[in-house]
Amino acid sequence: MESAETGLKTMRRVLFLLACLALAAPAAQSQSALPRQIAPGVWFLLGDASYGYSNTAVIEMQDYLIVVDANFPGRARELIAEVKQLSPKPVRYVFDTHAHGDHSYGNSLWTAAGATTLAYYKILAEMDRYEPARWQTAEAKRTDVRDLHEDNVQRPRQTFRKSPFILKDATREVDFLYLGWGHTPADGYVWLPMERVLCTGDAAVNGPRNKLWDANLANWPRVLSKAMRLRPLAVLPGHGDAGGIEILAGQRQFLLDLYSTVAAQAHEGKTPAEMKIQLPPRDANWTPKDLSQDVQIT
Ligand SMILES: [Zn+2]
Repeated sequence: MESAETGLKTMRRVLFLLACLALAAPAAQSQSALPRQIAPGVWFLLGDASYGYSNTAVIEMQDYLIVVDANFPGRARELIAEVKQLSPKPVRYVFDTHAHGDHSYGNSLWTAAGATTLAYYKILAEMDRYEPARWQTAEAKRTDVRDLHEDNVQRPRQTFRKSPFILKDATREVDFLYLGWGHTPADGYVWLPMERVLCTGDAAVNGPRNKLWDANLANWPRVLSKAMRLRPLAVLPGHGDAGGIEILAGQRQFLLDLYSTVAAQAHEGKTPAEMKIQLPPRDANWTPKDLSQDVQIT
């Protein structure tokens, strides 16, 4: 992915900051794209945004598969069938990168299919804090949630506290990371250290798909700096297409711009209602700061 494209995407994030995901869930099969192989045994599956679906990664281990994320129930049903086309191995783990419904509401379907849902432990407090209110809102809007006939999101069956939590066998190492409060207080990442592939959930998205209501805008750029220090070759975001480290750089710059613009107006004594948020223009030639340099954690 070229940096110029990232600039445009950052602009689009700004323009569509307030855009909401479409929540309608028609009955037909979604138009989610075909799986793309990122590395041997690592696939990226772009979710159909018109259904509100998030993206998915499938990671093949020696004897089993890992899926990132559980997704909405409608997409989980599709994935349970699609993953069988990628590999005959069973799905043993399904990682929820965070508590939002488009990443976790399919949990019970994966459990019923024999997998263990996994997450960073702080996800439980997030779910206890916001559920079942958000589930009920989704149920009112989405047939796939309603059709489950359940009254709450199923909590991940396994959690980890110490980061990294590592799954390793003769073929691959997979590190589950917690880097701090960014998109939500419980954002989990999946890092493949040999292949240098990073799954970010919504801590980094590609395009105008930021949801900020559970975010820590001051801390989020610092968390992304930590993620950039991993020097990923491939970044698989929660929404939008896969790319490289420029997705992390673009996300970080957008958040820094947003924070400093609001902070400057707050400093002038403006109330939120009086603020006019116009971020610094990033034209097609905009390039993130030299990606080959160490990222300073400020
Ligand atoms: Zn989210």
